[in-house]
Amino acid sequence: MSRRGEFDVIVVGAGAVGGALALALARDGFEVALVEAREPKPWRAEDEVDLRVVALAPDARALLDDLGAWAAIAAARIGPYRHMHVWDALAPGELHFDAAEQGEAALGWIVENKLVQSMLWRALHEDRLCGSGGSRDAPAANPARSIAASAAPTGVRMHCPGEVADIEDSDSGVTATLADGTRLRARVLVAAEGAESSVRTRLGVPFEGRDYAQRAVVAHVATERPHAGTAWQRFQPGGPLAFLPLADGRCSIVWSLPDAEAARVLALDDDAFRAELGCAFDFRLGAITATTPRAAFPLRLRLAERYVEGRGVLAGDAAHVVHPLAGQGMNLGLRDVACLRRVLRAARERGSDLGAEHVLRRYERERRSDNTLAARGFDAIERVYGSASEPVAALRGAALSLVSGVGALRHVLAARAAGR
Ligand SMILES: Cc1cc2nc3c(=O)[nH]c(=O)nc-3n(C[C@H](O)[C@H](O)[C@H](O)COP(=O)(O)OP(=O)(O)OC[C@H]3O[C@@H](n4cnc5c(N)ncnc54)[C@H](O)[C@@H]3O)c2cc1C
Repeated sequence: MSRRGEFDVIVVGAGAVGGALALALARDGFEVALVEAREPKPWRAEDEVDLRVVALAPDARALLDDLGAWAAIAAARIGPYRHMHVWDALAPGELHFDAAEQGEAALGWIVENKLVQSMLWRALHEDRLCGSGGSRDAPAANPARSIAASAAPTGVRMHCPGEVADIEDSDSGVTATLADGTRLRARVLVAAEGAESSVRTRLGVPFEGRDYAQRAVVAHVATERPHAGTAWQRFQPGGPLAFLPLADGRCSIVWSLPDAEAARVLALDDDAFRAELGCAFDFRLGAITATTPRAAFPLRLRLAERYVEGRGVLAGDAAHVVHPLAGQGMNLGLRDVACLRRVLRAARERGSDLGAEHVLRRYERERRSDNTLAARGFDAIERVYGSASEPVAALRGAALSLVSGVGALRHVLAARAAGR
C-alpha cells in the first residue's frame, strides 16, 4: 500500500464494476486507490428485496466467484433461472432457451444490484482476501462503517465519501485531486462512476446515443402460478415486459413503456396496476395477486466515442448504457473488468508502463467493439419489436420461428448472452 499517494491504478466509483475492478486488481497485487462518492447501504436479509435487480450471466458469476464474492451473494438471496421464454404480442411463435440444452446449471441468476455492490464492498474489507503483495494496514473493525481515506486489507486505499475535483495527465502518470484536497497519483485512472460519469466529462470524452423516451417500470409481484425458475419476456409495441424469477417465489418485473404510459401506470392504484400488468403479460402465470410499490428508470442508449483518453479509461455504464431488454448492462461492465484486468496483468509481466497508450488501446479495441455490437443489437431489437406495423410483425414471427426451430442458432444466442 502506497503511503505517499502513489498507486498503480485509481478507480473512481465503487458500483458493481468499480468495486469488482478494484478488488480484482488488488488481488493481483496492484496498488489501488478507490474513490466513491457515497458509501453503499449494507444489504440486509430482513429488508424487502431491492427493486433494482439484474440478471447475471455465467461469466459474470465466474468473475465474482474468482474474486471471492459470489459465495456470499449466493448464500444471501439469488434467483437462478434455467429457462427463458420470449414471445411477441403481435406475431405467432415463441423462443425457448433451456440451460440443460446449453450444458449449464442455469442460464443466469437474478440478483439485487445492492447485494452485488454490498458484497464486493465487504470483500474489499475482509481479512481473508489479503492475498496480494504490498504492506497492509489493519482491517476496519466494522466493515460497514464510514471510511474516509482508510486502507482496506486487500491493498485498496478507500476514499469515501470522495470525488475527483481535478485530473492532470502527463507522460509519467496521472494525478487526481479530490474535493478535499487529497492528491492521488497513479499510472492509470479508471472512470467507473456510472452513466453520469463526471470523470468522463473531465476527460473530454463525448458520447453518442439516443433517449428511448421510455421508462422501465419495476416492481416485485406475486402470481397465481409459480414462475418455474423461468425468465419471461413479452415484446409489445410500447416496449418489452420481463418477469424475472426471485428466490422467494415472486417475480421482479421490468416493464418498458413510453414515458407518458409509464407515468400513467405508476399512478394506477394497486388493483388497477395488477389487472393491467396481468393483461400485458398475457396471464402467462395467471393473475397478479400482489405487488410492491413501483419505481421507474429512464432508458437511454449511450456509447462513449472512445474508452481511453491519455491515462484515463472508461468502464461499465460510464462507457456504455444499453437498453435493459437483454439484461446485459452489468454483464458487459463486468466483461470490461475481466478484460482490463487481463490487459494490465499482461503489461506488468512485460514490464510495460500500465498507462502506455498501446496497453490501454488493447482494452479499448476489445471492449468497445463488443459493447457497441451488443448495444446496437439491443437497439435494433427495440426498434423492430417496438413497431406495430403488420408486415414488420409478420417478419418478426418468421424470424422467431426460424431461431426457435434451429437449435444451433438458439445455442449461438444463448452462448453470447452467457458471455462465451
Ligand atoms: C431497469 C433496469 C434493468 C436492468 N437490468 C439489468 C440486467 O438484468 N442485467 C444487467 O447486466 N444489467 C442490467 N441493468 C444495467 C445495470 O443496472 C447497470 O449496467 C449497472 O448497474 C452499471 O454498473 P456500474 O458499476 O457501471 O455503475 P453504477 O451502478 O451506476 O455505479 C456507479 C458508482 O459510482 C459512484 N459515483 C457516481 N458518481 C461518482 C463520482 N462523481 N465520484 C465518485 N463516485 C461516484 C456511485 O455512487 C456508484 O457507487 C439494468 C438497468 C436498468 C435501468
